[in-house]
Amino acid sequence: MQTNVYNIAFAESTKQVYLHFWGCNIKCKGCVCQKVVYDFMLDRNMHLHLAEPRGLAAAPERFMAFNDVIDTLVGLEAKWVLFEGQEASLDPQMPFIAEALHRHLGTTNVLLTNAFVMPDLRHFDKVAVGLKAFNENLHREYTGESNRTILENFPRIFHSGVPMMAETVLIPGYIDYQEIEQIAKFIASVDKNIRYQIDAYFKAGNNPWRRPTADEVDRAVEAASKHLNNVYAYKGSEPREFGVKSIFPTEAELDAAELAPAVESRHLVYA
Ligand code: SF4
Repeated sequence: MQTNVYNIAFAESTKQVYLHFWGCNIKCKGCVCQKVVYDFMLDRNMHLHLAEPRGLAAAPERFMAFNDVIDTLVGLEAKWVLFEGQEASLDPQMPFIAEALHRHLGTTNVLLTNAFVMPDLRHFDKVAVGLKAFNENLHREYTGESNRTILENFPRIFHSGVPMMAETVLIPGYIDYQEIEQIAKFIASVDKNIRYQIDAYFKAGNNPWRRPTADEVDRAVEAASKHLNNVYAYKGSEPREFGVKSIFPTEAELDAAELAPAVESRHLVYA
């Protein structure tokens, strides 16, 4: 059975696996997959955080079979698995992968989701919801979709009992600290102890926005902290204490792909 998994990245020292699924049901203008398709945290990709986008990254063409995903993670003796993507929950195989990993390895399974559709959380131990914007018009403009079902699913996820957090990308002058404060108020209406992470925007796609400064990130944290007890930021300049390598495709396959002639901007394929 084929899955939507196109990339497995692995931190050997911590036994953490990053499982990437292709396909999404919304179209964020700032989606990082426009710039980097394979895990942004791979050692080989760390320099891309600050790089200017150069056209749109090519969509992956190879996907893993269910048994290969499980066998690979068993071989790695994975302890912690992040299901991310694009949108992992769109893969009908996702709940079965999570179940098999619980059964074979007793992993801690973490789902990163946009919550546009309520995900099957039966075999997840943590969930992180990406909230793009609170203002519906802004959300529509940024993603092409209303946020109504997302805002309905957020408390449903909380009440499912699976520990959850939320995160938002801070984009100066667009999804700025005032909007972050509105999102924080919404999260607090569910529970003011939900962890909230503010991520600094990295330039991706054909957008006019710049990265926020450290002071702008701090201002957004301050605005959110008026309403929430656990607000953190990822500025992108934090040192990382472990290496991350690609298992599928292999590092050698990624090397070969980088040596191949450049392909002119190709458009992302959204499921
Ligand atoms: S939800 Fe995530 S994967 Fe989907 S378009 Fe937005 S940033 Fe990209």
